[in-house]
Parts: sequence; C-alpha cells; structure tokens
Amino acid sequence: MTLLTPETRQAVRRAAELLRASRQAVALTGAGLSTPSGVPDFRSEGSGLWTRFLPMEVASLSTFRYDPEKFFAWLHPLASHMLNAEPNPAHYALARLEQAGLIKTIITQNIDCLHQRAGSKNILEIHGTLNTLTCVGCYRQVESTGLIGPYLERGEIPRCPHCGSILKPDVILFEEQLPVRVWMKAQEASQSCDYMLVIGTSLEVLPSAGLPMRALENGARLVMVNRTPTYVDVRADLVFTHDIAEIVPLIAEEALNG
Ligand SMILES: [Zn+2]
Repeated sequence: MTLLTPETRQAVRRAAELLRASRQAVALTGAGLSTPSGVPDFRSEGSGLWTRFLPMEVASLSTFRYDPEKFFAWLHPLASHMLNAEPNPAHYALARLEQAGLIKTIITQNIDCLHQRAGSKNILEIHGTLNTLTCVGCYRQVESTGLIGPYLERGEIPRCPHCGSILKPDVILFEEQLPVRVWMKAQEASQSCDYMLVIGTSLEVLPSAGLPMRALENGARLVMVNRTPTYVDVRADLVFTHDIAEIVPLIAEEALNG
C-alpha cells in the first residue's frame, strides 16, 4: 500500500462521511474497477485486444451477424481473461457497503460478473453480461455455464441446445441499444440518488456517461475514483486518482467503522 498524504486521508474521511449521511447511494462502475483483477478494458485502445482487430468493426452487431467466427475469435482472449479473473478488494468493499445498506444500487458497465462473485446483489449491468447468451434463431436465453468451457478450450462456437443456431453473448456491442429495462432502472437510480460513487470509468461512452449529470441534477454528492480525469470532476465533491483497489476499500472501511 502506498503512503497516503494527510490530504488524501482527509478526503477519504470526507467521502465516507458523505456516504454515511446519504439515504440513496449508488455506485457507477466501469472497466477501471476490473483492471486490478486483470480484466482488460474491451472498449478502450491499448488493452492489447485491439492490436489484431479494430474495436468498432469486430465488437459490432454486424460482424456478429455476418462473421460470427471473427467475432468469437475476438471475444476469446477477453472471455478467458474474465473467467480467470477474481474480484479485487474494491469489488468486495462495494459488496460490504451494500450489505450494510450504505449502497443501494450498483450500475456497472462491466460484463465480467465480478460484482456478483464478490457478493453484490442489486446490480444493473447496462452493457450486458457474459453470464448468459441468447439464441439468434429462437431467442431463448441460456446460461453460459457448460457452453463457455468448450468454446474457450477448443474454440467451439456456442450453439443453442434447442435449435442449433448460434448463441450471441448477452453483451452490448457497438451498434446495439442498451437493454431497455436495465437502462431505465439505471436512469431512475441516478435521478433519485443523493450520493454517487463513480469508480473506474472515464465517462467517455454515451449514454451511460450522462448518469452522473442526472445525479447532480438531483443535488447528489459526487465522489470520483478514476485514474484519469473526467468531464464531471469539476462538479464532484471529491476526486481520487489513486489505485482503485486501494482507495475504495479505505472509503468503505471508514464508512463502516469510522
Ligand atoms: Zn435456439
């Protein structure tokens, strides 16, 4: 653990105080939360996943439709990273805060299921999940368990157990709309919260990037934990650019025991 300056310690205490004083706190999480778990950010450049593929091209609905082999070849390293990843201390800290009633909802852009595995319950996955797949033929939704293994081991493209058509992972691709019901709930949670903890997202992907503005319009307190600056930093109560896996547990510890 790095040594925190007295100013940072003070800021951690303040973030925890505001959280304790809140009634409806929401966490908004992005790829930066899972990078300490070894999950690359599949939408950003420099993740290594884009050296062979152009993101907008391959992670798109049209590629999936016309060239599913290419799509699944692209997804392969990402899915294998995610399935081998473990939640990090920040995931666990958020689960503890939810258990204690201090965080009501987690809105996540991540598709890696690490919030669930850390024990969080009320999660809105606005970019979908790798946990389920939907058949492009009969539209049945099936669990990934049992299908992802053979795909990762032998490259077998998952097929529907009912009709044999290709299964599409329930992740939101470029050109795809966000899942309507989940997205509505995320907007409602943002509009009605009085504290938003934004973790590991640079807020560059619309429309989810607009959620902190909804919270601010409701007069919510805003606490940012992200490595790089974001457009709402100027309006945030506190901005942390530290290691997420370090600072989020400190805020949680202070809020739970302080
Ligand atoms: Zn089917």
